[in-house]
Parts: sequence; structure tokens; C-alpha cells
Amino acid sequence: MPLNKTNISSIRTHVLSAPLTKPFHWSFNRADKREGCIVEITDESGETGWGECFGPARLNAAVIEAFKPHLIGKDAFAIDSIWQQLHNLFLDQGQKGLAITALSGIDIALWDLKGKRLDEPVHRLLGGPIRTEVKAYATGTYRLDEGNPLDYVVREVEGYAAEGFHAVKIKIGFDVSSDAKLIKACRAAIGPDINLMIDANHGFDSIEAIRLGNAIAEDDIRWFEEPVTPDDLGSYEEVRRGQPIPVAGGECDFTRWGFRDILQRRAIDIIQPDTAAAGGLSECKKIADMAAAFGIRYLPHVWGTGIGLAAALQLLAVLPDTPPSYTPKAPILEFDRSEHPFRQAILQSPIEHESGVVQIPQGSGLGIEIDHAALEQFKID
Ligand code: CA
Repeated sequence: MPLNKTNISSIRTHVLSAPLTKPFHWSFNRADKREGCIVEITDESGETGWGECFGPARLNAAVIEAFKPHLIGKDAFAIDSIWQQLHNLFLDQGQKGLAITALSGIDIALWDLKGKRLDEPVHRLLGGPIRTEVKAYATGTYRLDEGNPLDYVVREVEGYAAEGFHAVKIKIGFDVSSDAKLIKACRAAIGPDINLMIDANHGFDSIEAIRLGNAIAEDDIRWFEEPVTPDDLGSYEEVRRGQPIPVAGGECDFTRWGFRDILQRRAIDIIQPDTAAAGGLSECKKIADMAAAFGIRYLPHVWGTGIGLAAALQLLAVLPDTPPSYTPKAPILEFDRSEHPFRQAILQSPIEHESGVVQIPQGSGLGIEIDHAALEQFKID
């Protein structure tokens, strides 16, 4: 029998929730709380791995409940085998969305467990490291219930620049004229040396997105994220053709098959799969290798707790340089700065940046330890 073979003995989900002191909104939705579905998998040796699913927490937990009978007793190291079996079982109704976000949390937890058992960080098991630290960009500027975005958003981006971030991403997708005004105000406030990106959260159609992209063509915007709905790659192609800013997207896309279509059609310049949504570490490594073959950049989307952040960092350690070069342009980390009461609280040691640079966790598994008291504090069922 293989030296490290033990079987999965239990799977638990922890649904966490916490109210926000300042509710915020973006182009299509409003948040007055943050939620998370955390996955805990234990094997017969007593080792535990942790994962996270992106998206509606209770629904992810319900899908994992349906996965459970297919997981108990399985070889905990056979991660690809488990992935394929679950994917095939739920394929007819689960090619995208919740079946894959739930599978992502399981996959991440199994990688954490494997790393913990072997006393190796996940990135070493995935063939790395290619890099041991990454530059982070600040994500924020959600809209508040009160105040003028031309004041508070501009102050917020100035704050990120002062903290040492080399790049900042702002939320748009409300209205072409006022968005253009805000983008220009932010560019003027941070000066020419800080990279600026914009994220519409698919708040536009292609007509509006093309009009905005052209209106801010001179403002040195590094990418235009989710200009249009993820349902419509044709609109993505129109936006790429119709305005000069590189188009990013992919946080609402799933698996190698979903990204195959995006890559083949060259609908997006920079793909952004979420490790906790697109299929987990196993699948995102495959998508990253596919993207490299198409010469398309891969920058992971990150918007969850420290567990999802740690998973993204383990992946970032092994993302191929695109293009390969003696002095490659390394991928960068999305570092969400919006209010999240338990993002870092559930970790024993928070993952922080220093002057806009984040170290890849070097401990075993995902390189994090869970604060069980915090987990209980934020748990709702
Ligand atoms: Ca986004």
C-alpha cells in the first residue's frame, strides 16, 4: 500500500456570516453582510484540510452535502480522481455555477490536507515555486449609502497609493459619464506612476462599454474588467475590438471547458478565474497552463476569506510567466480592501501586505492555521 494512503473520514461545512458596519454596493448588487462557506475535510489519520467556496454560502454547503456520500472512504490524495468523479456525476446540471464552486472548496481542502500530511506547502506539490512573493493590487472603492464618490473614492485610492500599492482597481459600471469623471479624478489624484484598473461588474452592454473605453483612452487604464455580462462572449469580443483598453474577466466562469471557449475566441485579454469558484487549485492550474499556451495572461480573482486568499497565493507561486522571459512580468494578487469582518480573523496569522507586496505562505498545505474560536464566533449554522 502507498506510504501515505488514508481515506477521507469526514466533510464538514461552516457557514459564516457577519454584518458590515458600512453596507456597500457595486454595479448590480448591495452587501450589508459578508458570508463564507468554509470546507473542513478530515482523513483517517486525523489530518485536516481547509477550503473555501466562492458564492452563496448556504447553497454551496447544500451542494457539498450532496457530494458527501461520494467522498467518504475515498483516498484523500487522489484529488484529480475525486474531482473527475464528482464533476462527471453532476455534469448534466452542474457544468457551471454552484456545483463547481462547491467542488472548488473540496479540491482546495484536499490540497491543504495533502500538504499538511506531507509537511510541504501546496505550491511545492504543484511543481513550484516559480516565485515566493507577489505584488498586490488594492481592490476597493465600493459605493457607500452616503457621500459623493468623487470625494470618498478619490480619498480611498490616495490611501492605497500611500500604503505602497503599485496598482489600484476601482468600481465602475453605473453610468458612462459619471464613471469617466471618477476615473479621471482618480488618475489625477494618484499620478501617472500607480497603475489604475477599472471593474464594471458587468454593469454595461457593449455600446456603453465601448463608449466608456474610448472616453478614458488617454488615462492609462491597465485593464477594463467585466465590462459586459459573462453570458455573452460576443459582447466581450465587440468590446475588445471597439475600444483600446485590455479587457479582463472570468470570475464568473468555470472549468477548463468554460475557459477553453474564452481562449479560443480570444474574447478576453486577461483571464481571472477565482480559485474558490472555477474548480479549485487542480482545475485552475490546468486553466493557467491552457492560458499560457494561448499567450493570454492569468490573474486570479480573489474576494473571500483568508483561506481563499491563501489558495490564490499557492497558485500564484506556480503560475507560468506569460510570456516567458529573462525578466518576466510576474502575475499580481488581487487584495480586497473592502470591509470583511472575518477575512483575516479566521486565520491564526493574518496574511498582510508590506508596501504592496505579499509573501507566499511557506507553511505546510495552504500555509495557514485556522482560528477555531473565530470560526465558531462567525458561524450561523
Ligand atoms: Ca471583479
